[in-house]
Amino acid sequence: MEFLQEFERILSELSAHVREGREISYRDGAYGITEIISCPKKAELRRQHPDLEVRNIAIDDGFLFEKTVKEVLRKIFDRRFEEEKVLSHDFTVDGEPFSIDGHLDCFIQYNSNKIVGLELKHTVLSFDNETSGRPKELIILQPNSRRISINYKYILQAKIQKALLEWQYPDKEIEHYLVIKTTLRTRYKMGKSIVVLPTTESISREELEEIIRMFRNDPRPRANWECQYCIYRQHGLCNGSESANTTLEHENAELIMELLDKYSKIQTEAQMIQEQLKQLINGTIEYKGKEIGWTYQERTSWDIKAFVKLLKAKGYNPLDYLQVNGRKARLLENELGEELDKVREKTAKPVFRLQLGGRN
Ligand code: SF4
Repeated sequence: MEFLQEFERILSELSAHVREGREISYRDGAYGITEIISCPKKAELRRQHPDLEVRNIAIDDGFLFEKTVKEVLRKIFDRRFEEEKVLSHDFTVDGEPFSIDGHLDCFIQYNSNKIVGLELKHTVLSFDNETSGRPKELIILQPNSRRISINYKYILQAKIQKALLEWQYPDKEIEHYLVIKTTLRTRYKMGKSIVVLPTTESISREELEEIIRMFRNDPRPRANWECQYCIYRQHGLCNGSESANTTLEHENAELIMELLDKYSKIQTEAQMIQEQLKQLINGTIEYKGKEIGWTYQERTSWDIKAFVKLLKAKGYNPLDYLQVNGRKARLLENELGEELDKVREKTAKPVFRLQLGGRN
């Protein structure tokens, strides 16, 4: 059991290993891109407690992914590659100066005319809305694709980075990509993928000034889940606050927002559990008297012209069968039997049933 004491040391070495070469600095009074699109209070607390965030990255897979990608890019592009490239810009918003020091994960001087920027992300689970097979290892999305839902904050950050690159290198061609390592869930399968989304648009100066205005004037979190994952709340440095996007004018606003927050959390957890169950259960199993798991849903598509022809040939008025209820369906099945199979096609689609309460 003596070895157990070594784990603290292993964790601290792991933290140092991941941190190595990743020290990010800001000019006095300058803010990062993530800071201006998140809760402003976090930016304030980060400056007061810089070591908190550093400790937090030790076991974050995202930082390990970043570190590995950067090592590979350095090998390929050598001195043309720069990590955590500082993209600085000074603004005057409503007569007051404001400085941004953005940090781009990967900056590549691709050739004498072109600069390529990569922003690396790691997400636990994403959904592919178009594919049913096993996810590919590398998925390159079309520009503006909605095939895979991507956090809007990543897209906003990418647009700001692209604009800062364009302003810093006005005579170069700029390409920017979001590179996301994720576990991807297609309709029936799950697998690890790297998803690449080209950033086609850059943010306009006016839009960015509006974000800065909000950052200065509205201290609330920008999303209702921000407090839930905030390290400053976990360390008791802030009690949290309602988000800027969830103000509700209602006599029971507080209770409604609390219940909606709970409901959305439970819904997300339930979805993730369901995805795990889909992987674990083959066929069906019985749970508390209910059959759950994979089953087939039968669908019938009709050749309408041939169906109408058949009805006429058999002396039925097709108008009586514009809508077929249970009684009429049984009648047709009994009287026409197999002949119906010539004008319809039955297919079976696998569906996962998980109704545990109420009617199944
Ligand atoms: S707990 Fe909420 S309000 Fe407080 S710093 Fe974190 S995100 Fe901002």
